[in-house]
Amino acid sequence: MFLVGLTGGIASGKSTVTKIFREDLNCACIDADIIARKVVEPGKPAYKKIRSEFGDEILLMDGKLNRDKLGSIIFHDAEKRQKLNAIVHPAIKKQMLWEICLYFLKGYQFVILDIPLLFETKQMLPYISFSIVVFCHEDQQLQRLMERNKLSEEDARARMRAQLSLSEKCSLCTYTIDNTGSKELTRQNVLQVHSKLCASKKHLFI
Ligand code: ATP
Repeated sequence: MFLVGLTGGIASGKSTVTKIFREDLNCACIDADIIARKVVEPGKPAYKKIRSEFGDEILLMDGKLNRDKLGSIIFHDAEKRQKLNAIVHPAIKKQMLWEICLYFLKGYQFVILDIPLLFETKQMLPYISFSIVVFCHEDQQLQRLMERNKLSEEDARARMRAQLSLSEKCSLCTYTIDNTGSKELTRQNVLQVHSKLCASKKHLFI
C-alpha cells in the first residue's frame, strides 16, 4: 500500500489527469478540493470555527460559506489566510486519511491524492511515497486559466504567482506528466507513469 501525491500549477491539468487515472485506469483517487468543500459544509466543526472567526458576513443567504468572499479576504490578508488554514487544513487531513483507509480496505494497491498545494502546505508530504507534477507551458497555463475561469490576464497571473512555479514543483517530484500536447497525448503519458506505479515495490504509507 502506498500513497501518490499528484499536483501541478493552477490549470496545468491536474483534474484532466486525475480523470484519466480514475476513469480509464480504475485507480483510487481523492480530490483535495472536494474534501475541502465537504469539511466546511454547514454543521461541520470547521464551518462553526470559520463562522465564529470571520463572522456571518462570509455566509450566503442559504447559510453556506461564501467561498468567493472568503477567498478574496484571505487573498489580501496573510494573517486571516493563516487563521483559515489553521482551521481547514487539519480537518482536510483527517477526512483524507479516513477516505484513504476506506480505499485500502477495499484492496487498492495505491491511492492517488490530487492536492493542488502539495508542496506549499506540506501537510500530506510525510505520507507520500511518490509525487507527480502535471505541467504545461506557462503561456498555455495562462490561456487555459483565463478561458476556463473567465479571468483577465492580470487576475490570472496573480493567481499563478500565489503558488510555487511549475518548474520548482517539477524539480521536487518523482514523476512528471507532460500536458503540453493534446489530451490524447497526455493520456499516453499518464499510462506510462501508471505502469511505473504498478511496478513499484509496495511501501507502507505510515
Ligand atoms: P485547477 O488548478 O484550477 O484545479 P487543474 O490543474 O485541475 O486546474 P484542469 O481543470 O485539468 O486543470 O485543466 C484546466 C483547463 O485546461 C480545463 O479547461 C481543461 O479542459 C483544459 N485542458 C487541460 N489539459 C488540456 C490539454 N492537454 N489541451 C487543451 N486543454 C486542456
